[in-house]
Amino acid sequence: METGQIRYNKLFINNEFVEAASKQQFPVFNPSTGLKIADVAEADEVDVDVAVAAAKAAFSRGSPWRKMDASARGKLLNKLADLMERDIKNLAYLETLNNGKTYKDSMADVQASADIFRYYAGFCDKIHGDTIPIDGSAISFTTKEPIGVVAQIIPWNYPIAMLTWKWGPALCTGCTVVLKPAEQTPLTALEMAWLTKEAGFPDGVVNVIPGYGPTAGAALCLHDDVRKVAFTGSTEIGHKILEYSARSNLKKVSLELGGKSPLVVFDDADLDEAVEVAFNAIFANHGQNCCAGSRTFVQSGIYERFVRKASERAGQIKVGDPFDPNVTQGPQIDEPSLRKILRLVDSGKKEGAKLEVGGVRVGEEGYFVAPTVFSEVTDGMRIAKEEIFGPVQSILKFNTLEEVIERANGTTYGLAAGVITKNVDNALAFARAVEAGSVWVNCYDYITPQTPFGGFKKSGFGKDLGSESLNDYLVTKTVTIKLPS
Ligand code: NAP
Ligand code: MG
Repeated sequence: METGQIRYNKLFINNEFVEAASKQQFPVFNPSTGLKIADVAEADEVDVDVAVAAAKAAFSRGSPWRKMDASARGKLLNKLADLMERDIKNLAYLETLNNGKTYKDSMADVQASADIFRYYAGFCDKIHGDTIPIDGSAISFTTKEPIGVVAQIIPWNYPIAMLTWKWGPALCTGCTVVLKPAEQTPLTALEMAWLTKEAGFPDGVVNVIPGYGPTAGAALCLHDDVRKVAFTGSTEIGHKILEYSARSNLKKVSLELGGKSPLVVFDDADLDEAVEVAFNAIFANHGQNCCAGSRTFVQSGIYERFVRKASERAGQIKVGDPFDPNVTQGPQIDEPSLRKILRLVDSGKKEGAKLEVGGVRVGEEGYFVAPTVFSEVTDGMRIAKEEIFGPVQSILKFNTLEEVIERANGTTYGLAAGVITKNVDNALAFARAVEAGSVWVNCYDYITPQTPFGGFKKSGFGKDLGSESLNDYLVTKTVTIKLPS
């Protein structure tokens, strides 16, 4: 195989690539140039019906998938991880071409994703219920059963990783899947679909239907044969996903939504280390990260020095072609995203924040934004409240622990938080008090296959990763047997 060829542009249903029933296609772009790189089949309600029917048949009683030993499912997941490692350069190339993240980051994403499949591979035959000593002359046991056909709707910021976070627990537990990738980034999902076939997953277990959210996505979420929706994306659409469930069959829902996560730096921190952690927390993936540390709270004693070093650090980022190994920041995903970032930068300037560096578009081709740092940011400003989803660091000043806990929690979101300090009392007090699903102490974005990830408040509910994610894909059955008295 030649690296970087776009091989697949159709819907993947029942282990075959097929045209959309309507024969419609939609364009897919390279964000580095703004130019079209592919036309991809566009699923609508009719295709959703076909894909869900395939997933339902694959889940039916007596099907090869249902009869398969759990340990054999584990072997398939390990095989899928092997194939990803075999094709890592091709997957990373397509990810960078389509999403704009640096090739180095794409390689790391693919490897981390293969590792996640291996984690879940090991879990397949370790899922079991309890034996319960109950009142009276009877005994109960519980079984954990796969919930059935699951719809999975994912965003464009980590196309392969988000797919893996969703497929790992779904396939581990024995569910069947219909995945809708984001309209911007369908290419690697189709490659991954093909690899599931090569790995040996039976027909209909994995289906991938590129298309648009309000058509294909909504039809999936409203479908009466879908038992669960796993969604990652904006809070706005998260509201809609719950409505779709309420309007249809009350399917189970898990939501991983946005964030405005605080990273708190105390005076006692090693300044250079703190600047570096805070830098990666916000600038990783060009700021297009749901758990980005997008509110950097710095204690007053080191505030000025921190701002100076953080601005210097951001100024060192080389923006440009994500395939260039010297480049550390590629383009934003698309024009609307670029415009939104620049609008919020303008609002920051107008509302009185001090622009230290950046704040402008880079070049006229593609969707590049200069790494941007604002100081003198206050809690009421839009850049301190809204999800920018771009390379914009907002640095706020605080004085005391109590104050910063209050302010860190002063958001409708609750996805993640970080604290940098040498004082273990402050670290633990903050970790206990902050309303966030993940808290990192003296690090940030430390996400592993083993650790559950997911938000509080309007950042959603349900967990990805870890053993806890399996619960979202399982139902518990209680069997009670009367004993002779
Ligand atoms: P989005 O609209 O929430 O998209 C996420 C996924 O939901 C996509 O696959 C999208 O399809 C689908 N979708 C959209 N409308 C839907 C509907 N009515 N029913 C079912 N599915 C639907 O997010 P976005 O437009 O890509 O980005 C907007 C903002 O969301 C970003 O600026 C950022 O603030 C936030 N965001 C958060 C995350 C995260 O990781 N939590 C990721 C991406 C974006 P389409 O492909 O048609 O859009
Ligand atoms: Mg969208």
